[in-house]
Amino acid sequence: MGREDAAVPPRATPSRQPGLTMSSPTPTLPLSLPELVAATKATLEKIAAEYTPAVFASSLAAEDMVLTDLILRNRLQDRIAIFTLETGRLHAETLGMLGRIKETYGYDVTPYRPQPEAVAAYVEQNGLNAFYDSIEMRKECCRIRKIEPLNRALAGNKAWITGQRRAQSQTRAELHVQEQDEAHGMAKFNPLADWSEDDVWQYIRSNNVPYNPLHDKGYPSIGCEPCTRAIQPGEDVRAGRWWWENPDSKECGLHVVDGKLIRIKSVSQQNA
Ligand code: SF4
Repeated sequence: MGREDAAVPPRATPSRQPGLTMSSPTPTLPLSLPELVAATKATLEKIAAEYTPAVFASSLAAEDMVLTDLILRNRLQDRIAIFTLETGRLHAETLGMLGRIKETYGYDVTPYRPQPEAVAAYVEQNGLNAFYDSIEMRKECCRIRKIEPLNRALAGNKAWITGQRRAQSQTRAELHVQEQDEAHGMAKFNPLADWSEDDVWQYIRSNNVPYNPLHDKGYPSIGCEPCTRAIQPGEDVRAGRWWWENPDSKECGLHVVDGKLIRIKSVSQQNA
């Protein structure tokens, strides 16, 4: 494993405190990487202390490898279990990350798979790649392969964690570090909400964190193989996800309920 992180104590600012950040989605001052790492570590430790059982939903992409590293490096895995949604349509490179995590950390990420009968019925009625035909068909595929397994993975927990960042897309511009997921009846944490793409890669490189080789081939954001393409320089980082759809509909449904993007309340909003 690489160098020790969190060497520099976090700098308190009026709206961005380390730990369970309840900050405005509009940052005031950018934090340095050591400050971000310290704040993220404090958030994970707070979750482990106060919100167990908790789970981390890992897509095995770069952001999620940062959180995987921080959870396992700080030995929080007994209180924060890591799972992934193995949809049956992932790239071989993405599936290969399960082995690399095992090799690097000795940890088995738990795969949650769709119900075989539901997949078979969808394919029989609509075709294997019917998600290209309409947004409704795409959402139904995501419901079967992602949302139903996600609901199973979240059941019985007090909190779940994602690797989403505010800067990733317009649908995530209002993301908070801590939110209340009303749909699942539990807290939801996005510990990397304040991180930039540069922060993610600086952390990965300086700590020798394993990452999906597709990131080196023009895939900044990685989902299922048939729904993800490489992007060109200058394109939005999520332009390769469901590229045939409008940007404001590009969420897989994991953060959407009844067709609407969940604007989950931040804790600060709830307490207001
Ligand atoms: S991302 Fe594509 S293949 Fe994967 S579950 Fe959604 S529609 Fe289906």
